[in-house]
Amino acid sequence: MGLLEGKTALIFGVANDHSIAWGISRALHSHGARMAFSYAGEALERRVRPLAESLGSKFVEPCDVGKDEDITAVMAKAKAELGGIDILVHSIGFALREELIGPYYNTTRNGFHTAMDISVYSLTALVRGALPSLNPGGSVLTLTYYGSDKVMVNYNVMGLAKAALEASVRYLANDLGPKGIRVNAISAGPVRTLAAAGVSGFKSAHGRFREIAPLRRNIDIDDVGRAAVFLCSDLASGVTGEVVFVDAGYNILGSYEKPGGEAE
Ligand code: NAD
Repeated sequence: MGLLEGKTALIFGVANDHSIAWGISRALHSHGARMAFSYAGEALERRVRPLAESLGSKFVEPCDVGKDEDITAVMAKAKAELGGIDILVHSIGFALREELIGPYYNTTRNGFHTAMDISVYSLTALVRGALPSLNPGGSVLTLTYYGSDKVMVNYNVMGLAKAALEASVRYLANDLGPKGIRVNAISAGPVRTLAAAGVSGFKSAHGRFREIAPLRRNIDIDDVGRAAVFLCSDLASGVTGEVVFVDAGYNILGSYEKPGGEAE
């Protein structure tokens, strides 16, 4: 029997088959979860619907997380059509492209608000919307990045957003713990996705990563998916409020060996 047999997962954040949310979806499904999907807007439906259907999902609903009315509508539909939700995945991030290049101090007020609204507040809004449907024993999962803690060139306002997102995970974990619902984040190493392409210089940082990370490789969406199965299953029944790194060990480094063997 699969680890997630009998559980229903509602996934936010599949844009295409490179999305981290897609790796998570495949892994949850392979362990027996019933899958449901929400996508950002009409333009994405063409890509998301066939992916969802390939995992047997009939629930494929639009929701722009910047709009309260969209969140209310998708959660009402989920309650009516799915009944309870056991797993809620938030794999959403957005910042204006011009904020992801150059010095951080150039961040505009609008760019700051947008990044915080779509990448941070949306988790809280989705959790609140899903609360009437979230079953005890349920699990909420979001995606973060090490730029929350350390300066990553050009990541800028998204670093602040991820720091706030990780704090949200702790506050939500404390709120939902008494209901038997756990809230955690996976901090993923760099993966080539649509969102990542918006960060200036991402491609070369992604290339250097595998020369430095202890496992000497990049991570992929299936690595994230397997960790998601752990966090969303009863294997992690005592784990909440945590940020779990899936980054081939990159975050443990203080100094590292250059490919030639010299210390950096
Ligand atoms: P992606 O582009 O595939 O996914 C981002 C998703 O956010 C898309 O599905 C997009 O439609 C959705 N989104 C953006 N604005 C939205 C809105 N207003 N309403 C609803 N959905 C909206 O890229 P990804 O890399 O898979 O990103 C998923 C998460 O993983 C993000 O939180 C990202 O910050 C995080 N992450 C990515 C990396 C990486 O290197 N790719 C590393 C660590 C963490």
